[in-house]
Amino acid sequence: MTKLIVANWKMNGTLKNTHKFCQQITALAQETETKNTLVICPPAPYLDALRNDLKKSDIKIGAQDCSAALEGAYTGEVSAQMLDDIGCDYVLIGHSERRQQHKESNALFSKKIHQALDAGLQPIFCIGESDADYEANRTQDVLKEQLKALENFKKNKNIVVAYEPVWAIGTGKVASPEDIQNTCAFVEKTLSSEYALSPFILYGGSVKGENASSILSLPAVGGVLVGGASLKASEFWKIAIAV
Ligand code: PEP
Repeated sequence: MTKLIVANWKMNGTLKNTHKFCQQITALAQETETKNTLVICPPAPYLDALRNDLKKSDIKIGAQDCSAALEGAYTGEVSAQMLDDIGCDYVLIGHSERRQQHKESNALFSKKIHQALDAGLQPIFCIGESDADYEANRTQDVLKEQLKALENFKKNKNIVVAYEPVWAIGTGKVASPEDIQNTCAFVEKTLSSEYALSPFILYGGSVKGENASSILSLPAVGGVLVGGASLKASEFWKIAIAV
């Protein structure tokens, strides 16, 4: 089965590095084929450079966020339509860093997902429990609550969900294969029974070349969302061809 391999560069890199990454990944893609779908989400100012450099490849581009509004007096915001205009196919919504640093809520995510879908983008909706919730066995309750942002999107085929335990993001701590499988299966079951959705479920949290194959081989995992290890083309490529 084709897996979805998504890079989240966060606020890292330079224009020079972006061009270098594109050259390297294009060369790697010419050497070895992959049946997987690759998406790169750079910082917004580098989207156009990435699109241009990768136009001859099958690699897709995505944004790390979009506005909840269509247009207007929203200084600093980027609309989903603008992202579509520039050639994006995907957009991350609800990343834990947005939840923590910007106090974004389910109601806001719902609006962002609406804008993304209206603009023809595939939202990748990120969910995940904190360390304290994990330790207190509250993972399923937390995820169920976060998934309520999808209430208005029943049966929509264009939604992707990324399960990212917050304690595994950027920490080097990876959830156990058993936890990843069980939690992704729980998300899948909840989405199907409560929202008639059957999206790709991605796992994210310290995925690297060395652990990608065991994670991507889990039956409930449709792909991975990769932060730190996606900044180097050679490391990201190892993940892209891990299965
Ligand atoms: C992320 O930011 O979504 C992420 C999973 O980061 P990392 O791979 O660095 O843990």
